[in-house]
Amino acid sequence: MKMEEVRKLVRRRIFDIEAWPAGKPIEEVMEELGLSELAMMATNENPLGPSPKAVSAMAEAIQHVNYYPDGPCLSLKRKVSRRLGVAEDMITFGNGADSCIRIVASAFISEGDEVVMADPTFPVYTIFTRAMGGKEVFVPLKDYVHDLKSMMKKVGGRTKLVFICNPNNPTGSIVRKAELEEFLQNLPPHVIVVLDEAYFEFVSDPQYPNGIDYLKGGHNVIVMRTFSKLYGLAGLRIGYMMAASEVISALERVREPYTVSGVAQAAALAALDDQQFIDRVIENNERSRSFLYRELDRLGLTYVPSHTNFLFVDLKTDARKVTEALLRKGFLIRPGTPWKLPTCVRITFGTEAQNAAFIRALEDVLGGTVEA
Ligand code: PMP
Repeated sequence: MKMEEVRKLVRRRIFDIEAWPAGKPIEEVMEELGLSELAMMATNENPLGPSPKAVSAMAEAIQHVNYYPDGPCLSLKRKVSRRLGVAEDMITFGNGADSCIRIVASAFISEGDEVVMADPTFPVYTIFTRAMGGKEVFVPLKDYVHDLKSMMKKVGGRTKLVFICNPNNPTGSIVRKAELEEFLQNLPPHVIVVLDEAYFEFVSDPQYPNGIDYLKGGHNVIVMRTFSKLYGLAGLRIGYMMAASEVISALERVREPYTVSGVAQAAALAALDDQQFIDRVIENNERSRSFLYRELDRLGLTYVPSHTNFLFVDLKTDARKVTEALLRKGFLIRPGTPWKLPTCVRITFGTEAQNAAFIRALEDVLGGTVEA
């Protein structure tokens, strides 16, 4: 089939979607560059590996992959429900938070509906808004933080959803309780707010709002979380959403019947109980953050205070060149070019040894301290 024909057949905005960058397999990159090790500091994964309890649970669960998994994830739902104090009929699971975003878009966005979101924020919101023929309405961040006052001004009769990525990816910044409460109180009743809390467990700021409180308070919110970050299960693809039971009942109609594999469900169940691992991850995260703050201060570089497992840094030079040079030295980080911030990079925290080696490599690439 010719491209023009495909263009005529697909939904209206499919070709407005930028295809997700298809990087080469890591093994190929390493072989080409002659690297024996590559520090994965680009995609906000867990540098300490998966939860060991999850690994054991997976080994057992893998024996049963000839059968379809438990579609609604009942055991896991029960556990999350008890753990978070949210009723079972207010929770649904997806193949990663990415899939949860798709499920929300499929259930709620019709042609021409408007979806308000920050710029820059997590790009998957745009992908599925466009896939459903919706219209994204971008509101620039203010000082790297969601500008909820300006976002409210963009909410109108055609607005269906508002995405608030809290903490925000790529900047690592948070919206605080007072601002969120004011926003939710002024929101027209036909609008649903998606609170993407993929990095929830890394935040320690007492003014950080827990989306569940607003759900229980009767606001129109969908709270999204994932097992990819804290629990080290990004490769398994499992995330979940919490919302009013009526909203969940709409979402459940458009999720794939077996969206989460049995292996992923078993891993998630075990990971929730792996407190030793969780403590270790949080400790490594805090230590990484303080170390990188100190070292970047020493190098005269500015960064956005982070509430996550990554840091958004202004290198004050062409970030793509620096990123390429760092890759040759065995460090994979993300340049800010796709977010139209070409001097910035997003750096995922590594292990203690990776962070130290990364700073040495960065210093080397930048040729010493950068002028302030
Ligand atoms: N939301 C945000 C803000 C993210 O950063 C990510 C992952 N990078 C996701 C959602 C998707 O997470 P998952 O791995 O669960 O699909």
